[in-house]
Amino acid sequence: MASETETKASYQEYFGETQNIIRRTVRKFVEREIKPFVDEWEEKCEFPRDLYGKAAEAGLLGLGYPEEYGGSGKADIFSEIAAGEELMRCGSAGVAAGLGSLHISIPPILSLGTEEQKQRLVPSVLRGEKISALGITEPNAGSDVANIKTKATRKGDHYVVNGSKMFITSGGRADQLTCAVRTGGEGYQGISFLVIPSDTPGYSVSEKLKKMGWWASDTAQIFFDDCKVPVENLLGEEGQGFYAIMENFQNERLQIAIMANVTSEMALEESLRYVREREAFGRPISGFQVTRHKLVDMATLVEASREFVYRVAAKINAGENQIKEISMAKNFSCMVSDRVTYDAVQLHGGYGYMREYLVERLYRDNRILSIGGGTQEIMKEIISKFIFT
Ligand SMILES: Cc1cc2nc3c(=O)[nH]c(=O)nc-3n(C[C@H](O)[C@H](O)[C@H](O)COP(=O)(O)OP(=O)(O)OC[C@H]3O[C@@H](n4cnc5c(N)ncnc54)[C@H](O)[C@@H]3O)c2cc1C
Repeated sequence: MASETETKASYQEYFGETQNIIRRTVRKFVEREIKPFVDEWEEKCEFPRDLYGKAAEAGLLGLGYPEEYGGSGKADIFSEIAAGEELMRCGSAGVAAGLGSLHISIPPILSLGTEEQKQRLVPSVLRGEKISALGITEPNAGSDVANIKTKATRKGDHYVVNGSKMFITSGGRADQLTCAVRTGGEGYQGISFLVIPSDTPGYSVSEKLKKMGWWASDTAQIFFDDCKVPVENLLGEEGQGFYAIMENFQNERLQIAIMANVTSEMALEESLRYVREREAFGRPISGFQVTRHKLVDMATLVEASREFVYRVAAKINAGENQIKEISMAKNFSCMVSDRVTYDAVQLHGGYGYMREYLVERLYRDNRILSIGGGTQEIMKEIISKFIFT
């Protein structure tokens, strides 16, 4: 079945034949390799490691990355959006987040790394053989990135790393961590990026952290106790880390806005189906005007959010600076998904609170979206700097 985005003429300016082929390929992969197992993986709080290899074979992991490092070659932003939307439609944002941790941890290697580093650190991840994660957040510093404390002290041809990273997606089983460390003095200028292999002596991980949502993704705390990391794993120059983190956030925020939109769309679709089936007081609950109006409000928000995020993505694609707009898009799409998932559960009544109904998971999985990748309040801080100039 063709999706809404594929068939609507109004979306053809964003999604052409290339994007539609990618969408269909990812959809087939999701139908075959993820959907039949997704409930089981959610309950087990883990998906099998070999899913990375399968996703790589289907072209999902390498999409948009340079061919010389095993990727498909440059893809436009809507190809990535089409793939991301279809992956989210597996119904588990945890699977999407776990498979997707490479999309936040590989870009800093590509933007700051040397040719040797790219050849050494990227292809095995795009082939799905190694798992890559991003380590910025610490137990005592999340929003306040410039205040991270994990220390990397240069000793000859290596750094000695001590400290800890918190809430790391794929952190439990990552083979390599693109990690923000302090190589210099206090503040943002003292931050660098170091790629730390997880088999480095002194590197250890916590038990999987128990979460409200994203159950199928492993989230862990990582500890560094005198980890010796070769200087060849420093990305760029010492002190370049903070700028790379900020650049990386732009991409992550767009990905989260897309996740929020798909969450809202699925919650709306589930609700439209349910209200036609469920009867109360002798008629389907869709027969109550209040129900229809609630769904109308949900549908209106879903459409407005989708249009806004696509518009911002199109401007990014055209090379326009969208720091303010992407922060707005993240906040708006998350506000919509907060509202729509809440109302979807409400429309399902008691069944909406039960795990066998998708809206229950959508509601839980959604909650992180306005926290991860920069909180709603931090987005507002960024936006306020633009509008008060
Ligand atoms: C499931 C999950 C997966 C994650 N994955 C990763 C990952 O892969 N890698 C990684 O590095 N991190 C990851 N994170 C961490 C995530 O990015 C942080 O949780 C987020 O940035 C917020 O940081 P914090 O939790 O320290 O909250 P804090 O920064 O302590 O914020 C607490 C509250 O204070 C508010 N606040 C803080 N500063 C201000 C301010 N200046 N003005 C107004 N309000 C403010 C915040 O908005 C928030 O409401 C993940 C988190 C979760 C839960």
